[in-house]
Amino acid sequence: VSRVIPVETFDLVIFGGTGDLARRKILPGLFRRFRSGQMPEGSRIIGAARSDLDQAGYRQMIADAVAEFGGEEKKDSKGLDAFIETLDYVAIDAKGDGGWAKLAEIVRKDVVQAFYFSVAPSLFGDLAERLHTNNIANEQSRIVVEKPFGRDLETARALNETLATHFDESQIYRIDHYLGKETVQNLMAVRFGNMLFEPLWNNHYVDHIQVTVAETVGVGGRGAYYDKSGAMRDMVQNHLMQLLCLIAMEPPSQFGADEVRDEKLKVIRALQPVEPHHIVRGQYDAGPNGPSYREDAENARSFTESFIAMKCEIANWRWAGVPFYLRTGKRMKARSSEITVVFKDLGHSIFEGDEARHRNILSIRLQPNEGMDLQVTIKEPGPGGMRLIDVPLDMTFADALGPDAEEVPDAYERLIMDVIRGNQTLFMRGDEVEAAWRWTDPLINGWEARNDVPKLYDAGSAGPEDALAMMHRDGRRWREIK
Ligand code: NAD
Repeated sequence: VSRVIPVETFDLVIFGGTGDLARRKILPGLFRRFRSGQMPEGSRIIGAARSDLDQAGYRQMIADAVAEFGGEEKKDSKGLDAFIETLDYVAIDAKGDGGWAKLAEIVRKDVVQAFYFSVAPSLFGDLAERLHTNNIANEQSRIVVEKPFGRDLETARALNETLATHFDESQIYRIDHYLGKETVQNLMAVRFGNMLFEPLWNNHYVDHIQVTVAETVGVGGRGAYYDKSGAMRDMVQNHLMQLLCLIAMEPPSQFGADEVRDEKLKVIRALQPVEPHHIVRGQYDAGPNGPSYREDAENARSFTESFIAMKCEIANWRWAGVPFYLRTGKRMKARSSEITVVFKDLGHSIFEGDEARHRNILSIRLQPNEGMDLQVTIKEPGPGGMRLIDVPLDMTFADALGPDAEEVPDAYERLIMDVIRGNQTLFMRGDEVEAAWRWTDPLINGWEARNDVPKLYDAGSAGPEDALAMMHRDGRRWREIK
């Protein structure tokens, strides 16, 4: 029995509907929601972009995109035929008048209206303004904006102000697709839906926390863009910070958009400035499987980091004294994202001769094999007396929930459905984004002023030696990336 609850009938306009993101993620995702029955009849998706296409041309483009980027669902050709019937297209110029009258004609006023800004952020202001001057958007319309949301506090503030001229905060959905991941939401379910964890979730019982987001891809293809950004702006300021907030926040009074976002904001505000020796920046070197970062970025003198590891502190009663180690990088050993809560060592052992450090470790895997495991200590089976060993209580969601479980929606599909439902809980609020930049700006400015040169690391490794050393100095170890 499907548990999918259809959303209200909608018109979704995708500005940039011919772009990479739209073809790779947004449209294949919408097709999956369509197949699941979540997209009600009469709903429409309207691509709006610069390319000179008509409706038939756009439908073909999206059918091709699903064939190229879709998963299992692409085998359903009947379903795909029905899905592309919902597609329309308007050739539009964000910076000029072309196409706007036609868009105004197409978009209905009596259904949920959402406008997805899947274009360069420099066009956000133009789109917001023209949606109003052409009388298309109203007080109920929703807009979805992609990352990057600014490149520092000043640009993020300017972007917020521009959007606020035309839309209320309750209409603005800033996407951080990490928040759409099933396991990330599970983190909240685990914390606030169990008696077991929350009482221990503080500096009395937690030794430290690690967040790793490791990628195997390099920056080839988008090197020129990435070189102006780096891992701090591209990954830490948004995705890793969001994860950190969900781990560290106080329990909100209810799972509502502002309740959750208020608590996340408090975490960001409590983040302490990070000492330079608690930051390790890295850049991948050439390896057997690819060129160096500098070759990929086509900048032989680039000082941009493709890896960063840092030790952060949250100054509040719950977390004082508990380090949060964050690490992310490209061209690493494996594609693996994990949040790990390492509990303190047992204070005293009653078992004679047991010298080992026994500690519980809860790890939540975002990818691959979404799931969690909890390391617990048990007796080693057999006649050898009371010998203790540590074993994982493993829960891979796919195994635990069985083959009949509802298909797990990809992050983008879930978030788009939340937009249609008008649920902002999993979207970043303007003040959160600004607070995050307020914390990262001085760190970035600091290393730029010092002319900090990133440490080289081998492609396919776990990052620079210095990142390992930073942990060793604290008597701790990074989790193995596998
Ligand atoms: P893209 O370059 O592939 O596509 C850009 C789209 O914008 C095209 O459809 C183009 O026709 C349209 N466009 C450009 N100028 C226009 C104008 N003046 N008027 C109307 N339409 C115009 O870009 P993309 O990779 O799809 O990225 C879109 C947005 O999503 C960007 O903000 C990007 O930072 C963000 N994003 C992309 C990815 C990704 O994986 N591609 C991931 C995260 C965020």
